[in-house]
Amino acid sequence: MNLPKEAAEINGHQLRPESLMMSYGYTPAWSEGAIKPPIFQTSTFVFKSAEEGKAFFELAYGLRQQGPDEEMGLIYSRLNNPSLEILEHRLTLWDGAEEAASFASGMAAISTTLLALLQPGDVVLHSEPVYGGTDFFLKNVLPRFGITAVGFEPTITEEALSAKVAEITQGRLAMIYVETPANPTNHLVDLQACANVARRHGAAEKPIRVVVDNTFLGPVFQHPLHHGADVVLYSATKFLGGHSDLIAGAALASKPLMKEIKAMRTFMGTMCDPNTGWMLMRSLETLKLRMERAAQSAQVVADWLREHPQVERTYYLTHLEHDPRQQAIFEQQCLSPGSMISFDIRGGEAEAFQFLNRLKLIKLAVSLGGTESLAEHPATMTHSDIMPEVQREMGITSQMIRLSIGVEDPQDLMADLTQAFEAAAAAVPREHDAFAMYI
Ligand SMILES: *Cc1c(COP(=O)(O)O)cnc(C)c1O
Repeated sequence: MNLPKEAAEINGHQLRPESLMMSYGYTPAWSEGAIKPPIFQTSTFVFKSAEEGKAFFELAYGLRQQGPDEEMGLIYSRLNNPSLEILEHRLTLWDGAEEAASFASGMAAISTTLLALLQPGDVVLHSEPVYGGTDFFLKNVLPRFGITAVGFEPTITEEALSAKVAEITQGRLAMIYVETPANPTNHLVDLQACANVARRHGAAEKPIRVVVDNTFLGPVFQHPLHHGADVVLYSATKFLGGHSDLIAGAALASKPLMKEIKAMRTFMGTMCDPNTGWMLMRSLETLKLRMERAAQSAQVVADWLREHPQVERTYYLTHLEHDPRQQAIFEQQCLSPGSMISFDIRGGEAEAFQFLNRLKLIKLAVSLGGTESLAEHPATMTHSDIMPEVQREMGITSQMIRLSIGVEDPQDLMADLTQAFEAAAAAVPREHDAFAMYI
């Protein structure tokens, strides 16, 4: 489906993404006037003629150039499906991307994109820490295909990053892979600095791609393509889906890059399914409302946590006064601090566990970005595969608790946190005594 330009404007007035999420890319006349697109729960599509089938395959497999008015037809749901096409058109609006692809999971989007854009002999420079699954893929899967991953700390300066690139003598640098804000410390990576380094050291025939996992703040509060990135990736399981009821992913980029990524998706079969695509479209209608409400509540909760006597320190994007460089990056590339808060509880793992075990409204679970608030312990859960000394270097302490704030009333969340702090403070000495008996 090629969309007319006027679909996104009224008399030259550009409509905002949140105004378009209910209708963009879909015409009710296609489906008996249904205001919502149906779920195209079908594996294959009937060709009008053998000639049409031949023409569609020629385009799908790149056997000839697409004509100026020619549309890529529907063939088979591993290649594409209207439920996914409509979703993908809507996804492009938030990031201002030319094209998007939806995937079966965030990891499907990440692994497919890396395999599409890298080849043996290539080097990937990546910020650290990155999501655990990504970390494993970079360090354990890519080397089996002759691709090397080299990490850098998120607070690196442009000069230091440039020096690191100059040090790479074995293989060629093909990608700078970034996750910002970093999970769970909320450290920010300077996207424009990464893009500058990629442009400076890349060449037309050997470009260095800047690929950004934008799951934590995007697509409402951070737009990496506006800061020089080439590809944006999402775990759509998180804010895009937003209700903790589906697993999906997305990639967005220019048409030529998406052609490579979509071709790899076709051959790996990592596309999203039509039902999940439909659920994501429903989620997108409330995306901005949900993210803004969660961020407002998170600001209230984070400020309250910072003053709490049982909190040693908070990691939140409006609590950066101690670090002017991080503050400057925040102002440059983030539109809001978002709704992820980490904090160090006074004490250690025992105190953190007591606290987590006593939460009532906030659920003890990994994942994030849903309507309900979640809490977890990064050192022993999401980041437990990182060696303790490396965890310490990354700033992941045994006292650290990560919160994903949902859309509940912030006063209710603070009531829950208050009773968990009280219960933890009261219980800790007894636990310590009991533990002492066994050692
Ligand atoms: C959850 C997550 C992923 C992986 O996404 P899945 O949908 O679970 O495959 C990747 N990156 C980040 C930052 C995440 O939070």
